[in-house]
Amino acid sequence: MRLVPSVLAVLLLAGCAGSLAGRLTLPDRNTLVRDELVIHSDFPLSAHHRLFEELTSQRADLCRQLALPTSDEPIDVYLFENPERFQGFMRLHYPKFPDRRAFFVETDTHLTVYAQWGDRMAEDLRHEVTHAYVHAVAPNVPVWLDEGIAKYFEVSRGSRGLNRPLLDRLLVRMHQEHWQPNLQRLESLRGSEDMTQDDYAEAWAWIHLLIESRTDRLELLRGYLSDLRAQGAAAPLSARLDAGLGQPNVVLLEHLGQLEKGAW
Ligand SMILES: [Zn+2]
Repeated sequence: MRLVPSVLAVLLLAGCAGSLAGRLTLPDRNTLVRDELVIHSDFPLSAHHRLFEELTSQRADLCRQLALPTSDEPIDVYLFENPERFQGFMRLHYPKFPDRRAFFVETDTHLTVYAQWGDRMAEDLRHEVTHAYVHAVAPNVPVWLDEGIAKYFEVSRGSRGLNRPLLDRLLVRMHQEHWQPNLQRLESLRGSEDMTQDDYAEAWAWIHLLIESRTDRLELLRGYLSDLRAQGAAAPLSARLDAGLGQPNVVLLEHLGQLEKGAW
């Protein structure tokens, strides 16, 4: 999920007990730098070495596949040791944000990821750090595209972006409700808070199709991102897919059918 903070709540903690104040501050006892990632926590980070190496390898994968340059803009990643401390911090500093396990926040000067320790930490970090990698080099990325790319890269390396829970969700919709994709509708969404789980799944499916099926389709996505970088705006991807794929909805449904058969 990506969010742009509106007005940050400021709460003076005068008179609060020290333990409460401690829970509401950022974890910063330990710091580890890996390329542009600056990882902060109050617990030892060395034991999680493999996860952080995977995140840096993921940046190389993303830049290669999407033909994006790398950036040296720092990305601060704050890891909270438990959900309680994470939620306490987020409610204080970002009271309007929905209840999630992790966030990416972009301001004029900082790219920041907040995440809580837990079973899905690796997936959450891969997702949120993807947002940061993309935002570091490309402006004005539409929310559906931003989330679709993050859903593609949140699965472990080597999975070729196959996000099984999202695929299964779409297959159920297809078989039970004759679901049809609608990219123009996705393009009309303004914030990730407007997106349903079905929208996330469809966004992932378009990105998986473009990256994984054929080189000429991948070039459509790369060209769109390149135009965004060069001009700050670009003609909608749906129009490019209409021109390049003929019947994009049919192509996407066929792609999902291939995935269902395990032809991946
Ligand atoms: Zn996201």
